Amino acid sequence: MTLHQTNLTTAELRAIDAAHHLHPFTDTKGLNAEGARVIVKSKGVHLWDSEGNTIIDGMSGLWNVNVGYGREEIIDAVARQMRELPYYNTFFKTTHLPAIELARLLAEVTPPGFNRVFFTGSGSESNDTIIRMVRHYWAALDKPEKKIIVARHNGYHGSTMGGASLGGMKPMHAQGGLPIPGIVHIAQPYWYGEGGDQSPEAFGLWAARELERTLDEIGADKVAAFIGEPVQGAGGVVIPPATYWPEIQRICRERDILLISDEVICGFGRTGAWFGCQHFGYEPDIMAMAKGISSGYLPIGGVMVSDKVAEVIANAGDFNHGYTYSGHPAACAAAIANIRILLDEKIVDRVRDDIGPYMQKQWLALADHPMVGEARMVGLVGALELTPNKATRAAWPAEIGTVGTITRDISFRNGLVMRATRDVMIIAPPLVISHEEVDDLVRITRKTLDEAWAEAKHRGYV
Ligand SMILES: *Cc1c(COP(=O)(O)O)cnc(C)c1O
Repeated sequence: MTLHQTNLTTAELRAIDAAHHLHPFTDTKGLNAEGARVIVKSKGVHLWDSEGNTIIDGMSGLWNVNVGYGREEIIDAVARQMRELPYYNTFFKTTHLPAIELARLLAEVTPPGFNRVFFTGSGSESNDTIIRMVRHYWAALDKPEKKIIVARHNGYHGSTMGGASLGGMKPMHAQGGLPIPGIVHIAQPYWYGEGGDQSPEAFGLWAARELERTLDEIGADKVAAFIGEPVQGAGGVVIPPATYWPEIQRICRERDILLISDEVICGFGRTGAWFGCQHFGYEPDIMAMAKGISSGYLPIGGVMVSDKVAEVIANAGDFNHGYTYSGHPAACAAAIANIRILLDEKIVDRVRDDIGPYMQKQWLALADHPMVGEARMVGLVGALELTPNKATRAAWPAEIGTVGTITRDISFRNGLVMRATRDVMIIAPPLVISHEEVDDLVRITRKTLDEAWAEAKHRGYV
Protein backbone atom coordinates (compact mmCIF):
# COMPACT_ATOMS: atom_id res chain seq x y z
CA MET A 1 0.00 0.00 0.00
CA THR A 2 1.36 3.46 -0.85
CA LEU A 3 0.93 6.51 1.38
CA HIS A 4 -1.56 7.77 -1.16
CA GLN A 5 -3.99 5.06 -0.18
CA THR A 6 -3.66 5.46 3.57
CA ASN A 7 -5.28 7.90 5.91
CA LEU A 8 -2.19 8.92 7.80
CA THR A 9 -2.43 12.19 9.69
CA THR A 10 -0.17 15.10 8.84
CA ALA A 11 1.77 14.48 12.04
CA GLU A 12 2.38 10.86 11.04
CA LEU A 13 3.50 11.84 7.54
CA ARG A 14 5.88 14.44 9.00
CA ALA A 15 7.35 11.88 11.36
CA ILE A 16 8.11 9.48 8.49
CA ASP A 17 9.60 12.31 6.44
CA ALA A 18 11.73 13.41 9.39
CA ALA A 19 12.99 9.87 9.95
CA HIS A 20 13.95 9.06 6.36
CA HIS A 21 14.24 12.12 4.14
CA LEU A 22 17.18 14.54 3.87
CA HIS A 23 15.90 17.72 2.18
CA PRO A 24 17.93 19.94 -0.19
CA PHE A 25 19.30 23.26 1.14
CA THR A 26 17.84 22.44 4.55
CA ASP A 27 18.92 22.45 8.17
CA THR A 28 17.57 18.99 8.90
CA LYS A 29 17.39 19.38 12.65
CA GLY A 30 15.56 22.69 12.38
CA LEU A 31 13.10 21.35 9.82
CA ASN A 32 12.33 18.22 11.78
CA ALA A 33 11.63 20.22 14.92
CA GLU A 34 9.02 22.17 12.95
CA GLY A 35 7.78 19.52 10.51
CA ALA A 36 7.62 19.80 6.74
CA ARG A 37 4.53 21.11 5.00
CA VAL A 38 2.99 18.24 3.04
CA ILE A 39 1.76 19.29 -0.40
CA VAL A 40 -0.81 16.89 -1.78
CA LYS A 41 -2.58 18.42 -4.75
CA SER A 42 -2.39 21.12 -7.41
CA LYS A 43 -4.39 22.83 -10.13
CA GLY A 44 -3.61 25.92 -12.18
CA VAL A 45 -1.67 28.28 -9.89
CA HIS A 46 -2.90 26.63 -6.68
CA LEU A 47 -1.53 24.05 -4.27
CA TRP A 48 -3.27 22.22 -1.45
CA ASP A 49 -1.53 20.92 1.66
CA SER A 50 -2.42 17.88 3.75
CA GLU A 51 -4.45 20.04 6.12
CA GLY A 52 -6.69 21.27 3.32
CA ASN A 53 -5.23 24.78 3.01
CA THR A 54 -5.34 26.36 -0.45
CA ILE A 55 -2.13 28.19 -1.36
CA ILE A 56 -1.25 30.37 -4.39
CA ASP A 57 2.05 29.12 -5.74
CA GLY A 58 3.79 32.45 -6.24
CA MET A 59 7.04 30.64 -7.09
CA SER A 60 5.82 28.23 -9.82
CA GLY A 61 7.31 25.35 -7.85
CA LEU A 62 10.99 26.27 -8.18
CA TRP A 63 10.61 28.84 -10.97
CA ASN A 64 9.60 26.10 -13.37
CA VAL A 65 5.86 25.35 -13.56
CA ASN A 66 5.36 27.99 -16.25
CA VAL A 67 2.14 26.57 -17.74
CA GLY A 68 0.63 25.84 -14.32
CA TYR A 69 -0.43 22.57 -12.72
CA GLY A 70 -2.80 19.93 -14.02
CA ARG A 71 -2.21 20.31 -17.78
CA GLU A 72 -3.83 17.21 -19.26
CA GLU A 73 -2.00 17.68 -22.60
CA ILE A 74 1.35 17.07 -20.90
CA ILE A 75 0.06 14.24 -18.73
CA ASP A 76 -1.45 12.44 -21.75
CA ALA A 77 1.65 12.93 -23.89
CA VAL A 78 3.84 11.42 -21.17
CA ALA A 79 1.49 8.47 -20.59
CA ARG A 80 1.38 7.74 -24.35
CA GLN A 81 5.16 7.89 -24.61
CA MET A 82 5.61 5.66 -21.55
CA ARG A 83 3.48 2.97 -23.18
CA GLU A 84 5.26 3.27 -26.52
CA LEU A 85 8.89 3.58 -25.42
CA PRO A 86 9.50 4.50 -21.78
CA TYR A 87 13.24 4.59 -22.19
CA TYR A 88 15.94 4.33 -24.72
CA ASN A 89 19.29 6.06 -24.88
CA THR A 90 20.75 8.37 -27.48
CA PHE A 91 24.32 7.05 -27.23
CA PHE A 92 25.85 4.62 -29.73
CA LYS A 93 24.28 5.79 -32.98
CA THR A 94 20.65 5.64 -31.83
CA THR A 95 17.91 8.20 -31.47
CA HIS A 96 14.13 8.19 -31.01
CA LEU A 97 11.06 10.17 -32.02
CA PRO A 98 10.67 12.42 -28.94
CA ALA A 99 14.35 13.46 -29.01
CA ILE A 100 14.14 14.23 -32.73
CA GLU A 101 10.96 16.23 -32.38
CA LEU A 102 12.07 18.19 -29.30
CA ALA A 103 15.44 19.05 -30.89
CA ARG A 104 13.67 20.44 -33.95
CA LEU A 105 11.14 22.35 -31.83
CA LEU A 106 13.91 23.93 -29.73
CA ALA A 107 15.66 25.10 -32.90
CA GLU A 108 12.35 26.74 -33.83
CA VAL A 109 11.70 28.62 -30.55
CA THR A 110 15.29 29.67 -29.76
CA PRO A 111 16.88 32.77 -31.36
CA PRO A 112 18.24 32.60 -34.95
CA GLY A 113 21.57 30.80 -35.21
CA PHE A 114 20.67 28.19 -32.57
CA ASN A 115 20.02 24.87 -34.27
CA ARG A 116 21.51 22.17 -32.10
CA VAL A 117 20.85 20.89 -28.59
CA PHE A 118 22.73 18.58 -26.21
CA PHE A 119 20.18 17.02 -23.83
CA THR A 120 20.71 16.78 -20.08
CA GLY A 121 18.58 15.96 -17.06
CA SER A 122 18.77 19.31 -15.25
CA GLY A 123 20.17 22.81 -15.15
CA SER A 124 23.19 21.68 -13.15
CA GLU A 125 23.99 19.02 -15.72
CA SER A 126 23.58 21.59 -18.48
CA ASN A 127 26.18 23.85 -16.88
CA ASP A 128 28.57 20.97 -16.20
CA THR A 129 28.22 20.05 -19.85
CA ILE A 130 29.00 23.65 -20.82
CA ILE A 131 32.24 23.71 -18.81
CA ARG A 132 33.50 20.71 -20.70
CA MET A 133 32.08 21.86 -24.03
CA VAL A 134 33.68 25.32 -24.08
CA ARG A 135 37.09 23.93 -23.12
CA HIS A 136 36.72 21.22 -25.77
CA TYR A 137 35.76 23.96 -28.27
CA TRP A 138 38.93 25.97 -27.69
CA ALA A 139 41.10 22.86 -27.64
CA ALA A 140 39.64 21.91 -31.02
CA LEU A 141 40.67 25.37 -32.29
CA ASP A 142 44.24 24.74 -31.09
CA LYS A 143 43.86 27.06 -28.12
CA PRO A 144 43.80 24.55 -25.24
CA GLU A 145 45.12 27.21 -22.85
CA LYS A 146 41.76 29.07 -23.09
CA LYS A 147 40.20 27.33 -20.06
CA ILE A 148 39.13 29.83 -17.42
CA ILE A 149 35.44 30.64 -17.12
CA VAL A 150 34.44 34.01 -15.67
CA ALA A 151 31.23 34.02 -13.63
CA ARG A 152 29.69 36.35 -11.03
CA HIS A 153 29.50 36.56 -7.27
CA ASN A 154 26.00 35.62 -6.11
CA GLY A 155 25.21 33.89 -9.39
CA TYR A 156 23.48 30.52 -9.30
CA HIS A 157 24.26 27.78 -11.80
CA GLY A 158 23.28 24.60 -9.95
CA SER A 159 24.46 22.25 -7.25
CA THR A 160 26.82 19.81 -8.93
CA MET A 161 30.58 20.37 -8.50
CA GLY A 162 30.75 22.31 -11.76
CA GLY A 163 27.47 24.16 -11.39
CA ALA A 164 28.15 25.22 -7.81
CA SER A 165 31.67 26.31 -8.80
CA LEU A 166 30.34 28.55 -11.57
CA GLY A 167 27.85 29.87 -9.05
CA GLY A 168 29.05 32.53 -6.68
CA MET A 169 27.29 31.40 -3.51
CA LYS A 170 29.73 31.57 -0.59
CA PRO A 171 27.82 29.14 1.68
CA MET A 172 27.94 26.55 -1.13
CA HIS A 173 31.66 27.05 -1.77
CA ALA A 174 32.26 26.59 1.95
CA GLN A 175 31.14 22.96 1.75
CA GLY A 176 32.81 20.23 -0.27
CA GLY A 177 35.95 22.02 -1.43
CA LEU A 178 34.65 24.44 -4.05
CA PRO A 179 35.10 26.11 -6.43
CA ILE A 180 36.96 23.74 -8.75
CA PRO A 181 40.04 25.32 -10.40
CA GLY A 182 39.67 27.57 -13.42
CA ILE A 183 36.64 29.61 -12.36
CA VAL A 184 36.97 33.35 -11.62
CA HIS A 185 34.15 35.40 -10.08
CA ILE A 186 33.55 39.09 -10.72
CA ALA A 187 31.06 41.67 -9.39
CA GLN A 188 27.33 41.24 -9.98
CA PRO A 189 25.15 44.00 -11.49
CA TYR A 190 23.22 44.45 -8.23
CA TRP A 191 22.45 48.16 -8.21
CA TYR A 192 20.22 48.26 -5.10
CA GLY A 193 22.79 46.47 -2.96
CA GLU A 194 26.08 47.62 -4.44
CA GLY A 195 25.45 50.60 -6.71
CA GLY A 196 26.15 53.25 -4.06
CA ASP A 197 25.69 56.75 -5.46
CA GLN A 198 26.02 55.75 -9.11
CA SER A 199 23.03 55.85 -11.45
CA PRO A 200 21.82 52.37 -12.47
CA GLU A 201 23.11 53.01 -16.02
CA ALA A 202 26.61 53.99 -14.86
CA PHE A 203 26.73 51.12 -12.39
CA GLY A 204 25.67 48.62 -15.10
CA LEU A 205 28.61 49.73 -17.24
CA TRP A 206 30.97 49.56 -14.27
CA ALA A 207 29.88 46.00 -13.41
CA ALA A 208 30.22 44.87 -17.04
CA ARG A 209 33.67 46.43 -17.28
CA GLU A 210 34.76 44.30 -14.33
CA LEU A 211 34.88 41.59 -16.99
CA GLU A 212 37.22 43.72 -19.12
CA ARG A 213 39.46 44.50 -16.15
CA THR A 214 39.58 40.80 -15.27
CA LEU A 215 40.51 39.86 -18.82
CA ASP A 216 43.29 42.46 -18.77
CA GLU A 217 44.56 40.92 -15.57
CA ILE A 218 44.52 37.22 -16.43
CA GLY A 219 44.78 37.50 -20.22
CA ALA A 220 41.93 36.74 -22.60
CA ASP A 221 44.16 34.05 -24.12
CA LYS A 222 43.53 32.03 -20.95
CA VAL A 223 39.78 32.60 -20.82
CA ALA A 224 37.22 30.35 -22.50
CA ALA A 225 33.94 32.02 -21.63
CA PHE A 226 31.81 34.29 -19.52
CA ILE A 227 28.62 32.91 -17.97
CA GLY A 228 25.70 34.78 -16.43
CA GLU A 229 21.97 34.54 -15.80
CA PRO A 230 20.01 37.25 -17.68
CA VAL A 231 18.32 37.93 -14.33
CA GLN A 232 19.97 36.32 -11.29
CA GLY A 233 17.19 34.23 -9.80
CA ALA A 234 18.34 32.47 -6.64
CA GLY A 235 20.62 35.42 -5.90
CA GLY A 236 17.54 37.54 -5.24
CA VAL A 237 16.05 38.43 -8.65
CA VAL A 238 18.85 40.82 -9.53
CA ILE A 239 17.66 42.64 -12.67
CA PRO A 240 20.69 44.26 -14.32
CA PRO A 241 20.59 47.86 -15.55
CA ALA A 242 19.86 48.11 -19.29
CA THR A 243 23.50 49.07 -19.97
CA TYR A 244 24.92 45.83 -18.57
CA TRP A 245 24.34 43.07 -21.12
CA PRO A 246 25.19 45.00 -24.31
CA GLU A 247 28.50 45.96 -22.70
CA ILE A 248 29.20 42.37 -21.65
CA GLN A 249 28.52 41.29 -25.23
CA ARG A 250 30.88 43.94 -26.65
CA ILE A 251 33.67 42.76 -24.34
CA CYS A 252 33.15 39.06 -25.13
CA ARG A 253 33.23 39.77 -28.88
CA GLU A 254 36.27 42.04 -28.75
CA ARG A 255 38.26 39.68 -26.57
CA ASP A 256 37.16 36.51 -28.34
CA ILE A 257 35.61 34.66 -25.42
CA LEU A 258 32.33 32.75 -25.58
CA LEU A 259 29.21 34.26 -24.06
CA ILE A 260 27.03 31.82 -22.14
CA SER A 261 23.52 32.71 -21.08
CA ASP A 262 22.16 30.58 -18.25
CA GLU A 263 18.50 30.58 -19.29
CA VAL A 264 17.38 27.97 -16.77
CA ILE A 265 14.94 30.42 -15.14
CA CYS A 266 14.58 33.12 -17.80
CA GLY A 267 14.01 30.74 -20.71
CA PHE A 268 10.57 29.79 -21.97
CA GLY A 269 8.78 33.04 -21.35
CA ARG A 270 9.61 34.17 -17.83
CA THR A 271 10.74 37.67 -18.92
CA GLY A 272 8.10 38.14 -21.63
CA ALA A 273 10.50 37.02 -24.37
CA TRP A 274 11.19 33.38 -25.20
CA PHE A 275 14.68 33.75 -23.72
CA GLY A 276 16.11 36.29 -21.32
CA CYS A 277 18.89 37.25 -23.75
CA GLN A 278 16.23 38.44 -26.19
CA HIS A 279 14.65 40.64 -23.54
CA PHE A 280 18.00 42.21 -22.63
CA GLY A 281 19.22 42.42 -26.22
CA TYR A 282 22.29 40.19 -26.47
CA GLU A 283 23.25 37.16 -28.53
CA PRO A 284 24.97 34.40 -26.59
CA ASP A 285 27.00 31.55 -28.10
CA ILE A 286 25.55 28.92 -25.77
CA MET A 287 22.44 28.74 -23.59
CA ALA A 288 21.79 26.51 -20.58
CA MET A 289 18.16 25.41 -20.33
CA ALA A 290 16.04 23.38 -17.86
CA LYS A 291 13.14 24.24 -15.50
CA GLY A 292 10.54 25.89 -17.78
CA ILE A 293 11.49 23.65 -20.72
CA SER A 294 9.06 21.05 -19.32
CA SER A 295 7.29 23.23 -16.76
CA GLY A 296 8.69 20.73 -14.25
CA TYR A 297 6.37 17.89 -15.24
CA LEU A 298 9.45 15.70 -15.75
CA PRO A 299 13.12 16.54 -15.22
CA ILE A 300 14.95 17.56 -18.39
CA GLY A 301 17.48 20.15 -19.47
CA GLY A 302 19.59 21.02 -22.45
CA VAL A 303 22.52 22.98 -23.78
CA MET A 304 21.50 25.01 -26.83
CA VAL A 305 24.51 25.52 -29.06
CA SER A 306 24.90 28.27 -31.68
CA ASP A 307 26.04 27.35 -35.18
CA LYS A 308 29.45 28.93 -34.55
CA VAL A 309 30.14 26.56 -31.64
CA ALA A 310 28.26 23.58 -33.08
CA GLU A 311 30.36 23.59 -36.27
CA VAL A 312 33.54 23.23 -34.24
CA ILE A 313 32.18 20.61 -31.84
CA ALA A 314 30.67 18.62 -34.70
CA ASN A 315 34.05 18.42 -36.44
CA ALA A 316 36.17 17.69 -33.39
CA GLY A 317 35.67 13.94 -33.09
CA ASP A 318 34.09 12.31 -30.04
CA PHE A 319 32.72 14.57 -27.32
CA ASN A 320 33.32 12.23 -24.40
CA HIS A 321 30.34 13.30 -22.38
CA GLY A 322 26.72 12.26 -21.83
CA TYR A 323 24.08 11.20 -19.36
CA THR A 324 21.98 8.04 -19.21
CA TYR A 325 18.97 10.33 -19.33
CA SER A 326 20.19 12.67 -22.09
CA GLY A 327 17.02 12.94 -24.19
CA HIS A 328 14.85 10.71 -22.00
CA PRO A 329 11.82 9.89 -24.17
CA ALA A 330 9.10 10.59 -21.60
CA ALA A 331 10.81 13.80 -20.45
CA CYS A 332 11.14 14.90 -24.08
CA ALA A 333 7.42 14.19 -24.57
CA ALA A 334 6.63 16.40 -21.57
CA ALA A 335 8.81 19.20 -22.95
CA ILE A 336 7.25 18.97 -26.42
CA ALA A 337 3.71 19.16 -25.01
CA ASN A 338 4.75 22.04 -22.74
CA ILE A 339 6.30 24.06 -25.58
CA ARG A 340 3.22 23.41 -27.73
CA ILE A 341 1.05 24.91 -24.96
CA LEU A 342 3.34 27.97 -24.80
CA LEU A 343 3.00 28.35 -28.59
CA ASP A 344 -0.71 27.54 -28.98
CA GLU A 345 -1.83 29.78 -26.13
CA LYS A 346 0.65 32.55 -27.06
CA ILE A 347 1.74 32.58 -23.44
CA VAL A 348 5.02 34.40 -24.03
CA ASP A 349 3.26 37.29 -25.79
CA ARG A 350 0.72 37.33 -22.99
CA VAL A 351 3.51 37.82 -20.44
CA ARG A 352 5.01 40.64 -22.50
CA ASP A 353 1.81 42.49 -23.41
CA ASP A 354 -0.86 41.61 -20.89
CA ILE A 355 -0.33 39.79 -17.61
CA GLY A 356 3.28 40.96 -17.20
CA PRO A 357 2.48 44.70 -17.31
CA TYR A 358 -0.70 44.06 -15.31
CA MET A 359 1.21 42.44 -12.45
CA GLN A 360 4.22 44.79 -12.67
CA LYS A 361 1.99 47.80 -12.07
CA GLN A 362 0.66 46.35 -8.81
CA TRP A 363 3.94 44.82 -7.71
CA LEU A 364 5.99 47.99 -8.24
CA ALA A 365 3.33 49.92 -6.29
CA LEU A 366 4.30 47.86 -3.21
CA ALA A 367 7.34 50.18 -3.04
CA ASP A 368 5.08 52.59 -1.12
CA HIS A 369 5.06 50.18 1.87
CA PRO A 370 7.26 51.39 4.74
CA MET A 371 9.12 48.07 4.77
CA VAL A 372 9.99 48.00 1.05
CA GLY A 373 13.25 49.61 -0.08
CA GLU A 374 12.82 48.64 -3.71
CA ALA A 375 10.24 46.72 -5.74
CA ARG A 376 11.45 45.35 -9.06
CA MET A 377 10.02 43.06 -11.72
CA VAL A 378 10.55 42.01 -15.30
CA GLY A 379 8.02 39.81 -17.10
CA LEU A 380 6.66 37.68 -14.25
CA VAL A 381 9.69 37.55 -11.98
CA GLY A 382 10.13 40.11 -9.25
CA ALA A 383 11.42 40.97 -5.81
CA LEU A 384 10.94 43.23 -2.81
CA GLU A 385 13.94 44.47 -0.83
CA LEU A 386 12.94 44.59 2.83
CA THR A 387 14.54 47.30 4.94
CA PRO A 388 13.86 49.03 8.27
CA ASN A 389 14.72 52.37 6.60
CA LYS A 390 13.74 53.13 3.02
CA ALA A 391 15.81 56.30 2.83
CA THR A 392 19.13 54.65 3.69
CA ARG A 393 18.40 51.11 2.34
CA ALA A 394 19.68 49.95 5.74
CA ALA A 395 20.15 46.29 6.60
CA TRP A 396 18.14 44.82 9.48
CA PRO A 397 19.74 44.77 12.93
CA ALA A 398 18.85 41.05 13.13
CA GLU A 399 20.95 38.31 11.53
CA ILE A 400 20.67 38.47 7.75
CA GLY A 401 17.67 36.48 6.52
CA THR A 402 15.73 36.68 9.79
CA VAL A 403 13.14 39.17 8.56
CA GLY A 404 12.94 37.45 5.18
CA THR A 405 12.16 34.14 6.84
CA ILE A 406 9.56 35.73 9.14
CA THR A 407 7.90 37.33 6.12
CA ARG A 408 7.96 34.11 4.12
CA ASP A 409 6.35 32.16 6.96
CA ILE A 410 3.62 34.78 7.36
CA SER A 411 3.01 34.71 3.61
CA PHE A 412 2.63 30.93 3.64
CA ARG A 413 0.14 31.20 6.51
CA ASN A 414 -1.77 33.78 4.48
CA GLY A 415 -2.01 31.39 1.54
CA LEU A 416 0.83 32.52 -0.73
CA VAL A 417 4.19 30.93 -1.46
CA MET A 418 6.87 33.59 -1.72
CA ARG A 419 10.54 32.80 -1.38
CA ALA A 420 13.01 34.68 0.80
CA THR A 421 16.65 35.11 -0.21
CA ARG A 422 18.49 37.00 2.50
CA ASP A 423 15.90 39.72 3.27
CA VAL A 424 14.61 39.88 -0.29
CA MET A 425 11.14 38.50 -1.07
CA ILE A 426 10.85 36.80 -4.43
CA ILE A 427 7.88 36.15 -6.69
CA ALA A 428 7.67 34.17 -9.95
CA PRO A 429 4.10 32.92 -10.48
CA PRO A 430 3.02 30.57 -13.27
CA LEU A 431 2.81 32.44 -16.58
CA VAL A 432 -0.86 31.42 -16.91
CA ILE A 433 -1.91 33.33 -13.79
CA SER A 434 -5.16 35.27 -14.32
CA HIS A 435 -5.82 38.93 -13.58
CA GLU A 436 -8.00 37.99 -10.59
CA GLU A 437 -5.29 35.69 -9.26
CA VAL A 438 -2.73 38.51 -9.55
CA ASP A 439 -5.10 40.74 -7.57
CA ASP A 440 -5.30 38.03 -4.90
CA LEU A 441 -1.55 37.51 -4.86
CA VAL A 442 -0.78 41.20 -4.41
CA ARG A 443 -3.51 41.63 -1.78
CA ILE A 444 -1.98 38.78 0.26
CA THR A 445 1.51 40.24 -0.24
CA ARG A 446 0.41 43.60 1.16
CA LYS A 447 -1.31 41.97 4.13
CA THR A 448 1.84 39.91 4.71
CA LEU A 449 4.05 43.03 4.64
CA ASP A 450 1.76 44.73 7.18
CA GLU A 451 2.00 41.75 9.51
CA ALA A 452 5.75 41.32 9.02
CA TRP A 453 6.31 45.06 9.66
CA ALA A 454 4.33 44.77 12.90
CA GLU A 455 6.38 41.74 13.91
CA ALA A 456 9.66 43.49 13.08
CA LYS A 457 8.60 46.44 15.25
CA HIS A 458 7.50 44.11 18.01
CA ARG A 459 10.98 42.53 17.99
CA GLY A 460 12.61 45.95 18.09
CA TYR A 461 14.17 45.73 14.61
CA VAL A 462 12.73 49.08 13.54
C1 LIG B 1 17.88 26.14 -10.90
C2 LIG B 1 19.01 26.69 -11.68
C3 LIG B 1 20.05 25.87 -12.12
C4 LIG B 1 20.17 24.43 -11.71
O1 LIG B 1 19.16 23.66 -12.24
P1 LIG B 1 18.82 22.24 -11.55
O2 LIG B 1 17.78 21.68 -12.47
O3 LIG B 1 18.36 22.50 -10.17
O4 LIG B 1 20.07 21.45 -11.58
C5 LIG B 1 21.02 26.42 -12.94
N1 LIG B 1 20.97 27.71 -13.29
C6 LIG B 1 20.00 28.53 -12.88
C7 LIG B 1 19.98 29.94 -13.33
C8 LIG B 1 19.00 28.05 -12.03
O5 LIG B 1 18.05 28.87 -11.58
